[in-house]
Amino acid sequence: MSSPRERLQQQLAAPLPLHPQLVLVTDLDGTLLGGSSAWRRRVYGWLQRRREQVLHVFCTGRDLRSVASLLEQDAAHGLVAPHLVIGDVGCTVACGHSLAPVPLAVAPIDALWQGKPERLLPLLEGVAGLSPQPLSSDRRLAYYYDPEQFEPDLVSALEAHGVDCLFSDNRYLDLLPAGINKGTTLLALLELLELEADQVVTAGDTLNDLAMFETGLSGVMVGNAEPALRAALPRLSRTYLAEGHGCEGIVEGLRHFGFGHLLSDL
Ligand SMILES: [Mg+2]
Repeated sequence: MSSPRERLQQQLAAPLPLHPQLVLVTDLDGTLLGGSSAWRRRVYGWLQRRREQVLHVFCTGRDLRSVASLLEQDAAHGLVAPHLVIGDVGCTVACGHSLAPVPLAVAPIDALWQGKPERLLPLLEGVAGLSPQPLSSDRRLAYYYDPEQFEPDLVSALEAHGVDCLFSDNRYLDLLPAGINKGTTLLALLELLELEADQVVTAGDTLNDLAMFETGLSGVMVGNAEPALRAALPRLSRTYLAEGHGCEGIVEGLRHFGFGHLLSDL
């Protein structure tokens, strides 16, 4: 009988590093895609050289199609595919190489999502201040919202159907299966892979990253983080607020958490 770790590996198109020294979990927009071009090139090149020591996970609100086009576009900056992708704000887990969803990690989320769109979509139709994002709706519904127009009373009516409403960056509203977010999906993945918590550093910049910081894993809030996320900092015991923006902030955080020895060739 194979272990969950072995079964998950079998569902990936490329092997994971055998003995990673760091598991780096980065949000994309504003975080791994943030900072100066020079810093981005440095960090992307470093990730490429350190592939066997640094297990890299994207943890993003983007769907897989959007991640795929990003990897094509941003090749100019030297961005390479990560080992794993947590997409759709925690509702999708995929192989970074093939971008194929990983059934072992996705099935429990899928089970929670069954029947939800049918119940939610009628409540969302024609609501003032809401417009659908042009994303796939795999295990979540994604909208733009206008804080001036959107009526917050709707939130409890929606959440009564077993979803969480997640507002982020003053413009995004995601409806996710209740209890699923970037943080819970990351913890489930780490458990499946039998990875130790003290090897992990997360990084993010907006409110949909708060759940990662709330896991208690080491976290880097990059210097360009949105004010609503910064406001949570005092209660986040393992989160470091960097001065540097985007990629520069990630590096600052890695040094802060004692991973400077891996940065010698940055
Ligand atoms: Mg972001």
